[in-house]
Amino acid sequence: MTKKRTSSDIHLAVGGPETSTSRNLSRRCFLGQTARFCCQAGITAMVFGNLAPGAVFADSGSGALQNPSGSRSGADGTKLFDRDFVPGYVQLQESGKLSKRADELWDIMSNCRLCPRECGANRHRGQTGFCQSPGNRLFISSAMPHFGEERPLVGRGGSGTIFLTHCSLRCVFCQNYEISHLGRGHERGVEEMAGMMLQLQRLGCHNINFVTPTHYSAFILKALNEASARGLRVPVVYNTCGWERLEILALLDGVVDIYLPDFKFWDSDHSIELTAGTDDYPDLTKEAILEMHRQVGVARPNRNGVMQRGLMIRHLVMPNEVGGSVEILDWVTENLPKDTYVNIMAQYNPYHKAFDFPEISRRITGEEYRQVVDHAKELGLTNLDIQGHRWLRR
Ligand code: SF4
Repeated sequence: MTKKRTSSDIHLAVGGPETSTSRNLSRRCFLGQTARFCCQAGITAMVFGNLAPGAVFADSGSGALQNPSGSRSGADGTKLFDRDFVPGYVQLQESGKLSKRADELWDIMSNCRLCPRECGANRHRGQTGFCQSPGNRLFISSAMPHFGEERPLVGRGGSGTIFLTHCSLRCVFCQNYEISHLGRGHERGVEEMAGMMLQLQRLGCHNINFVTPTHYSAFILKALNEASARGLRVPVVYNTCGWERLEILALLDGVVDIYLPDFKFWDSDHSIELTAGTDDYPDLTKEAILEMHRQVGVARPNRNGVMQRGLMIRHLVMPNEVGGSVEILDWVTENLPKDTYVNIMAQYNPYHKAFDFPEISRRITGEEYRQVVDHAKELGLTNLDIQGHRWLRR
């Protein structure tokens, strides 16, 4: 799944495993993120997930979480919300429905159909499906305030990002392949994940942002049920590749506040070649995005500039028009309101196995990006997130 900027940027800041991506982090960006976050939480609170088990923040028992240094953070991710805002999952938790939804998703894992692969693995018997997520165990790579996501998700306190391991789509150019393909992370319990959510809220994050959530959706709802009962009140972001089953989305209706799907490919020939044979990626993603829009509507930040609810589409512009940017924008214009939020992303890089595919073995040019942006503007789309990197002006 593509992200606006990789969260593994921050791994570098705490001496986590250095990755090729983290090496690309500019010094200025690194210092800015580090200073901002340290002011809020203390340096030891930088990352809690990609460390050894046991390094997760502890709950003090009073509902007020403490970081490992013992100091209490004064931040609260809900501070910039509208006074009457209540995340959708709270009502479902209070009525007992969230727990039932979680159980339904849990049961589906016995003949797994959580994602469109529908590979039928019995995860409760330890079987591993196409996504490689290990049976019915939960693995998390990291959980952290992330300042590289879309501005309305970042706000002042960052997006509370929880990176889950493995993926069922498996793009050959994935910039997070160490997490999504190689499964780099640590086993966690549902209670631990609930604690992470509460800690992110306390650190000032304005949302809980689940990255690559589909194959762990049952765990997410279970953890959310617990976290909600313990006071979680920030919106949930479902940060997905867009390739989702309607049956699963129906169980997320009212749970997810902000859908953040990619729309990667228009042409199934490309999705077959570049995502482990998914010929139905374009069709299922269109259906899924329409359903997401039906559930949460247009994404509009509140008066403080923070997103509370809505559909935010990401489209990564790829070299040689491989993604079908023009057709995707045409489709958005014809099927969704003109003020649908679309992030036209420019940061494609040939990661992982991309060099095996000549068409996608380079970055995009400024001209390629400009053409897509111009087309979006000509179509009259009004809620565009456009990047202005210096190299794009060349
Ligand atoms: S989530 Fe994983 S195990 Fe379940 S259907 Fe998809 S690939 Fe198979």
